[in-house]
Amino acid sequence: MTLQTMRWLLLAGLAACAPAARGPSAPAPRPAATALPDDGAAHVTLLHINDVYEVTAVDGGKAGGLARVATLLKRLEAANPATRMLLGGDFLSPSAIGTARVNGERLAGRQMIAVLNAVGLDLATLGNHEFDLSFPELGRRIAESTFGYVLSNVTDSLGRPHFGIPRHRILRLTDGRGRSVRLGVVGAVLEQVRRPNLRYLPPLAALRAEIAAIKDSVDAIVALTHLMLRQDIELAEELPELDLIVGGHEHENWALRRGARLTPIVKADANVRTVAIIDVAVRPGARPKVEYRLMAVTDSIPEDPAVAAEAKRWTDLAYEAFRQDGLEPARVIATLPMALDARETIIRNQENELTRLLTGAWMAEARDAEVALINSGSVRLDDVIPAGPITEYDVIRLLPFGGKAVMVEMSGALLRRVLEQGDINRGIGGFLLKASADMGPMGWRVGSTPLDTLRSYRVVTTDFLVSGGEQNLGYLNDRNPGLRLIRTLRDVRLIAIDELKRRFGR
Ligand SMILES: [Zn+2]
Repeated sequence: MTLQTMRWLLLAGLAACAPAARGPSAPAPRPAATALPDDGAAHVTLLHINDVYEVTAVDGGKAGGLARVATLLKRLEAANPATRMLLGGDFLSPSAIGTARVNGERLAGRQMIAVLNAVGLDLATLGNHEFDLSFPELGRRIAESTFGYVLSNVTDSLGRPHFGIPRHRILRLTDGRGRSVRLGVVGAVLEQVRRPNLRYLPPLAALRAEIAAIKDSVDAIVALTHLMLRQDIELAEELPELDLIVGGHEHENWALRRGARLTPIVKADANVRTVAIIDVAVRPGARPKVEYRLMAVTDSIPEDPAVAAEAKRWTDLAYEAFRQDGLEPARVIATLPMALDARETIIRNQENELTRLLTGAWMAEARDAEVALINSGSVRLDDVIPAGPITEYDVIRLLPFGGKAVMVEMSGALLRRVLEQGDINRGIGGFLLKASADMGPMGWRVGSTPLDTLRSYRVVTTDFLVSGGEQNLGYLNDRNPGLRLIRTLRDVRLIAIDELKRRFGR
């Protein structure tokens, strides 16, 4: 970061909030129009966030919080009217509040749109999780948004954009010194959710085409993406016209430069634990110069009252709905001695402390069960629960769909088929978490004995899994002769809460 940009951030009242910031002490704020460096360049300020599932602060109120981000945005706008806030996807799902049923209908991201509208978000791209919603739900959320969307690489089966989302945008901005910039924005999302009417183009080819269409009409080009880091790196290496890539999906921050032009790739931490603040300086006849910094969002930043009120309104509404299910979201269950990793890239591929805790909870709920099977897709937090106090709300975040555990009798032949498919499903929600069943050197074992295909087993699982709803496991339903329901147990969230109390409660 140049001294001049540092000085500008100080003037904007921002550096004071960042623990890592070093530099001269901040002079008294001057009028906005002169807060920008007088360096002959037009300056665009971008505030970038990604992967946001919570409308309020996280980690017991210490980190994140969209009301604090709104305060940052206002400070940046005061320093430079050419400020825009961007969101790099994954915000409508998965979220606990989004699963609350209000007037018989799941909120499904309504709360997030309302709060982001209040923050003053300008432009978003879609993440893979936005396609967790049904098309009608997603269409309603987009219609409720007062901000815009951009997405270059997704169409319906006929090659048309979904919901009329443009493949590129050109933002015309004028900074505090009256200098104007035309900023082109293109967008891309990774292919994860597959649906018949959802077609993905390779991000590189899609962005190359959009850049060709706009490059003569803009001063700088930004890719707003929701891709894996290696895909973003490929864009930086293959598309030298890009001046900046701001992305998401990994849930942890990244700031690096790649490609011949050292194009910045910047991602913030999930749930606005950090935000990225970017300065794009455009001089006539020269390549734009981009500088960036990550900033921690902590309780040292005051909340914007209007956004805090909107976030509280939706939280109260959802909490009331959870209480109808016998849950008390604010109640502390236990103190975790370690973090629990519920990121999908982990728990859809392997067992860990968290998955063993869940399958152990199911076994404890049904003492006569021989095997526990849980579809990893029922765990939707896609985040890490830090060590320390864990609340019932955290469990709602972990198992947002709720539903009941069930005890079934399953033929040995069917159980073997299900166990095999569960492993084939590695990487997707149908990957099965299991207790008391594993692959030994001689084949599948239940407990310590080889699985006997000629007898039946008592299996504790979820009502969803035996309703035929899971990928590649649709044959698990009440018409399957190898499957018989023995009894229905409690809500899965209550089962997990009791296990946490048993293991870590005082
Ligand atoms: Zn994602």
